[in-house]
Amino acid sequence: MSKTVAQSERIHIAFVGRRNVGKSSLMNKFIGQDLVIVSDIPGTTTDPVKKAMELLPFGPVVLIDTAGIDDVGELGEKRISKTIKTISEVDFAILVLDSQQKLTQYEIELIEQLKNFDVNFIAVINKSDLGINYELIEELQKFGIKYHPVSCITSEGIYELKEKVAQLLPKDEEVPLIGDLIKQHDLIVLVVPIDLGAPKGRLIMPQVQTIRESLDEDAIVLVTKDKELRAALGKLNQKPKLVVTDSQAIMRVAADVPEDIMLTTFSILMARYKGDITEYVRGLLRIEELENGDKVLIAEACTHHAQEDDIGRVKIPRWLRLHTKKNIEIDVVSGHDFPQNLHEYKLIIHCGGCTLTRKMMQTRIKQARYMGIPIVNYGIAISYLHGEIPRVLQPFPEALVEWEKIHTKLKVK
Ligand code: SF4
Repeated sequence: MSKTVAQSERIHIAFVGRRNVGKSSLMNKFIGQDLVIVSDIPGTTTDPVKKAMELLPFGPVVLIDTAGIDDVGELGEKRISKTIKTISEVDFAILVLDSQQKLTQYEIELIEQLKNFDVNFIAVINKSDLGINYELIEELQKFGIKYHPVSCITSEGIYELKEKVAQLLPKDEEVPLIGDLIKQHDLIVLVVPIDLGAPKGRLIMPQVQTIRESLDEDAIVLVTKDKELRAALGKLNQKPKLVVTDSQAIMRVAADVPEDIMLTTFSILMARYKGDITEYVRGLLRIEELENGDKVLIAEACTHHAQEDDIGRVKIPRWLRLHTKKNIEIDVVSGHDFPQNLHEYKLIIHCGGCTLTRKMMQTRIKQARYMGIPIVNYGIAISYLHGEIPRVLQPFPEALVEWEKIHTKLKVK
């Protein structure tokens, strides 16, 4: 049976280049099936096309075909900005070149972009059946760029390219979700409220991943709802090593869990796994600096049907206004894009980002940092607004150190 791996846990690879150099043909060859429409008419690929596959011996990846970087017209410009956005989020790129052409300003700028976004890449010289272009090879060598010739007509070089790419892909950063906090036979308790916001018949991704990683560490996992937590703890003949709760239940859970048991939230586990926990802790300082009329952005990475007491639209805005006692303007966006007017916001409160890859979340953090806008995630913000920081940061010494610095500044204010 094949393993199902969530898109957010796969390495993302983009095929980039000018129009009509064979990006779509090459991606089809890579996959071994005709997924992407191929035509000689330049600009056939409009929106990025994605396909998940197993790239052996590497593992699960997502391939993305992008629109040509030299697209024209108003629509073309939109496609180019989508391509640039894709480049900023992927883990690796395949820069497709035509063996019959030289490097142009488009490729040179693309190479710059790839370097700026820290994306490792290989240049693939397509149409090798038409002959070798030594001039092009010399140019690539001059830039110190790795290259590989292929032909999508004869399939020459495709197999070797796949092997090369598998070797070049970034190895997992191995940021653990919970694995480093527990060891064999540790007992951990996971608190999973089943309320209106809970999806019907299943657990959400961070909960499932936490259970799986704990089982991988040979830990003993007890899963309970918040209402049953006190009863569950009462039945145990030893204290759990760690309790992890949904952020929204933090007040009730913190009251039920004795102080000598470590407590954190799923969202704070995600803060470290996908995001940057110390950056988020630093972002808390901005909450205390908010003034009347300031705008705060609540960003969710995926869309869902908002419930009556929705966390992003209702609860966090309520808690934030109650805490600051300021008349703050709050906008909520969902999906894979920040709004164009990001500069208008004084603070970004981001969801756990479980459907984003680590690279995508890191790109969002970088964007916020670049614009000088502090960013926090739901778990850190909610725990702070309920007075439960630093308790929930106890398992993360690096975040605690950051909190101590912030705390001093908060006291000075
Ligand atoms: S991506 Fe964000 S909004 Fe979507 S399920 Fe994950 S945490 Fe919730």
